[in-house]
Amino acid sequence: MKKKLCGIILSMSILCSLLSGCSDKHTAIIMDNAKDFNLTEEISESLKQEDYGIQSYTFLKYIQDNLPGRIAGTEKEKEMASFISAILLNGGYSEKEIKLNSFDIEEGVPMMDESVENVFDGGENSQSSQNIEVIKKGQSEKTIIVGAHYDSAGTHGVDDNGSGVAVALENALRMIDVETQYTIKYVFFGAEETGMHGSREYVNSLTEKEKDNIVLMINIDSILAGDNLYLYGGSINDKGVVEDTEAVNKAYEIAKKANLPMQLTPEGNVDYPHPTGQKRSDHAHFSDLGIPYIYFEATNWLNGLPVETEKYGLIMHSDKDDLYFIENEYGNRAKDTMANYSQLLQLILQEKNWE
Ligand SMILES: [Zn+2]
Repeated sequence: MKKKLCGIILSMSILCSLLSGCSDKHTAIIMDNAKDFNLTEEISESLKQEDYGIQSYTFLKYIQDNLPGRIAGTEKEKEMASFISAILLNGGYSEKEIKLNSFDIEEGVPMMDESVENVFDGGENSQSSQNIEVIKKGQSEKTIIVGAHYDSAGTHGVDDNGSGVAVALENALRMIDVETQYTIKYVFFGAEETGMHGSREYVNSLTEKEKDNIVLMINIDSILAGDNLYLYGGSINDKGVVEDTEAVNKAYEIAKKANLPMQLTPEGNVDYPHPTGQKRSDHAHFSDLGIPYIYFEATNWLNGLPVETEKYGLIMHSDKDDLYFIENEYGNRAKDTMANYSQLLQLILQEKNWE
C-alpha cells in the first residue's frame, strides 16, 4: 500500500514538473496575497518621498520586523515575494508588468557554510522558489538588468539581502516615469543562498535576442553593514588576465564626480583580482555569458578577504544581521549606505552609452 502511494506521489510530481502547474499555483497565491497586502502607514507615506534612501529604509524596516528567515523555498520567502510585488503594485506598476517565474530548487552548493545556527526557519519548505521581474521600457530594446536576491539565511537578512532588494525597489518606483535610453529590467532573484538558483534559472530562460540586448547587469547584494562601499566588475580570462572592466571603471568615475564614497578593491590581491567581485553572487551567471556587470557590496577587504566589518567580522549569515544591532553599533551607517548606493544606481541608469 505504502509503495503504491509512493508511486502515485512520484508520478504526480513528475506530472507537476512536466506541466509546471504546481509551481504556478504558488505564483498565483503570491500575487493574490500581494494584491491584498496591507502596507503600513509608514510605507505608504514613504512612497511619496523623493530623497534617496528614504523609501529603501522604510522597506528594510518592514523586512526586519516582519520577514525574517526567508530561507529558499519556505513560506517566508514566498511572503517576501508578495511584499515585493505589493510595493511594485502600489508604486504604479500593473499586475501585468510583474512577472513571477517559479522553479524547483535543485541540489546546489550553498553560498556559505551553514555552521551558524538558524534563528528563524521560514516555515514549511516547498522546494520551489520564484524570480520576480518588472520591466521599465526605455527608448531602446537594449537592456540593463538590476538584480537583487530576496531570500536569506535564517536571520533577519536585512544586510544580506533586504538592503539590495530595498534599494532596487526604491529605484524601480523612482524610474517609473523617467525617460531612459535603456530598458531596465528589475529582477528579484529567489534562492541565491542555496547556490544562486534564481539567477541561473533567469539566465537560462533568456532567448538569444534577450541575451544580446543586455548591455549591463547591476547586482546589489549586502550593502548595509560593511565598513566600506565597493564596486566590482570585470572578468578573468583563461590566461588569468582581468578584462571587461570598462563598466565598473565608468561607474567609479560617476561615483567620484557625485562625491559618493565608493571604492574599488585593493590591487595586488591574487585570490580576488582587482577590480573583480569574483563569482560570489548572482552577477556570476551574467558574467559567464560575457555580459559586463557592476556589483555593489559594502564590506572590508582586511587581510585580502571580504570580512565585512573590522570589529565583528561577517555580519551576514549571523544573528548580527539585524537592523537594530547594526544601528546600535554603527548609528546611521545603514541609512547612509542605502542612500549612497541608491543615488549611484540612479546616476548609472541615467547615463548613456553603456555599450
Ligand atoms: Zn547575498
